[in-house]
Amino acid sequence: MNQTEQITRQTFDQVMAPNYAPAAMIPVRGEGSRVWDQEGKEYIDFAGGIAVNCLGHCHPALVSTLQEQASKLWHVSNVYTNEPALTLAKQLIDATFAEKVFFANSGAEANEAALKLARRYANEHYGEQKDQIIACHHGFHGRTFFTVSVGGQAAYSDGFGPKPGAIEHIAYNDLAALEALISDRTCAVMIEPMQGEGGVIPATDEYLAGVRALCDKHNALLIFDEVQTGVGRTGALFAYMNSPVVPDILTSAKSLGGGFPVAAMLTRSDIAASLKVGTHGSTYGGNPMACAVASAVLNEVNTPEMMANVSAAEAQIRQRLADINDKYQVFAEVRGKGLLLGAVMNDKYQGKARDFLTAAVAEGLMMLVAGPNVLRFAPALNITESEVAEGMDALERAVAKVCQSSE
Ligand SMILES: *Cc1c(COP(=O)(O)O)cnc(C)c1O
Repeated sequence: MNQTEQITRQTFDQVMAPNYAPAAMIPVRGEGSRVWDQEGKEYIDFAGGIAVNCLGHCHPALVSTLQEQASKLWHVSNVYTNEPALTLAKQLIDATFAEKVFFANSGAEANEAALKLARRYANEHYGEQKDQIIACHHGFHGRTFFTVSVGGQAAYSDGFGPKPGAIEHIAYNDLAALEALISDRTCAVMIEPMQGEGGVIPATDEYLAGVRALCDKHNALLIFDEVQTGVGRTGALFAYMNSPVVPDILTSAKSLGGGFPVAAMLTRSDIAASLKVGTHGSTYGGNPMACAVASAVLNEVNTPEMMANVSAAEAQIRQRLADINDKYQVFAEVRGKGLLLGAVMNDKYQGKARDFLTAAVAEGLMMLVAGPNVLRFAPALNITESEVAEGMDALERAVAKVCQSSE
């Protein structure tokens, strides 16, 4: 194919591995919570690149940080350290329970590091029989073979040959199930404080407190996967901060780079000590450009004003969803926290979340689903009142159309 030929959605089918099924339109430009496609059609963005663009598109502070770093130093590998990585690590440590940081490029890699660390730590301190990892049904932890096996949807890890062993799954928010399974053989429990991909399902405080107590009783590490919930998404810098517990290991990605690939695993010094020289690594991990951008993201996000905006936008979306539902009766409930919200389809619209998403795109609104029954909202944390209003107007038009066509 000639490179000057027009790029269209059909090009995707010609040149890309068929593991994704992207929308018909191709976005070409974004500014704040607005996006334009190849035809110049404008959209409000409630998808945020799947909870990634926490400051919207092309935020001036991130653009200038990236441009400045791009003319200074792009990459040195971990054979050398670099200033942006150390600055970001200090920021994360200052802002959280953590004492040590490991950088990676994606959520899956941060989780891979967390799981390998938990296994190593248990092995060193208690012996190799302590290898069991417990996670939850419908949990999502990434697509490497270890993380997808720890994830709670067997369909995502089936058919790739022998799976990593000693991984077991229990129901989310079911403390009795964990109590029945956990033992001194358990090396770690990995959970999302709110399941994102699994359907926007928050954990209860009692559950998290119970999980923490059971981990302590059996010397198992508690790993919080905050890849989706972290960096302000739920109205706190990390979701654990609004819960009664502190994890032993926490992973962050998605919003951490605001659209630039970067991830981090945070933990305490006594646990991190098991990652001795040579035990783990990543060529791009701690890349100066990624870390410079993430530092700028944290500076912008970790403020009372930004957290107040998250709460205000959440209230506005919930109110409009209630109004829409009064008129059209499509949702059974709205759940989630901050700007990670899920509108759950009622009985009449079971399995139809994607129809609403498709109708929304036609009305100029980018949305997400979380499974077949949940319409998911993950807009930028700095979305304005008028952008929310415009997006909800588009959603209402989309809901009206779907309802009409299913009469
Ligand atoms: C998206 C996600 C991941 C995987 O992150 P990638 O960057 O796609 O590897 C892991 N855990 C949770 C909770 C996620 O939402």
